[in-house]
Amino acid sequence: MPRKIAAGNWKMNGTRASLAELSAIATAHPAPSVEVLICPPATLLARATDAGAVALGGQDCHAKTSGAHTGDVSAEMLADAGASYCLTGHSERRTDHAEDDATVAAKSQAAYDAGLTAVICIGETLAEREAGTTLDIITGQLNGSVPLTATATNTVIAYEPVWAIGTGLVPTTDQIAEVHAHIRTHLADKDIPLLYGGSVKASNAAEIFAVPNVDGALVGGASLKAEDFSPIITALENA
Ligand code: PEP
Repeated sequence: MPRKIAAGNWKMNGTRASLAELSAIATAHPAPSVEVLICPPATLLARATDAGAVALGGQDCHAKTSGAHTGDVSAEMLADAGASYCLTGHSERRTDHAEDDATVAAKSQAAYDAGLTAVICIGETLAEREAGTTLDIITGQLNGSVPLTATATNTVIAYEPVWAIGTGLVPTTDQIAEVHAHIRTHLADKDIPLLYGGSVKASNAAEIFAVPNVDGALVGGASLKAEDFSPIITALENA
């Protein structure tokens, strides 16, 4: 059985004051029955290790271990700062930084090499869904972004329809079920956790977690405040 994960992506939000939210999450869930992961901005990672029973992740890493890459952070640096996970291929990276599948695969391999678990993000745009090509897009992204060395230990897949991220729009449970079943069939290691991401909040989490092959969520906006994220963790514990 894949393990269950409630993951939060703080994106470019948060200063030292935000670490109180992390502590509040850890205090509310001192011994969670699911894995709780927060990906704060890289500037907060080292300090965030004091928060307690919460796993930490980077939001991106460079494909190389070191060198002349101003402004970038390597997977090794993230691990050194206290991360055990790293997001790769988030749609905002794919769009804002023109990251293609080959880049995402290289970054995911770099995460593996540093001992991190890569949370590899995939998902279709609204135009692709409306054109009826969602499953083809997902297949292409899986083939291109997920290294052949992926296992249930070093990889998590997050299905995040681009049109659902930060918009309040959520696919139907049938649409989520169709894509997650497709991903599950495609992956060689059937225990790789599959997260859904895109406008997950306390009010829709239980319904989403009841969908077959959904092993948790990657949450943006609703992970920034403990009072919003905590009920999502509880919903996954109860799923
Ligand atoms: C995300 O950032 O991966 C995400 C799913 O954001 P939101 O929950 O805000 O839609």
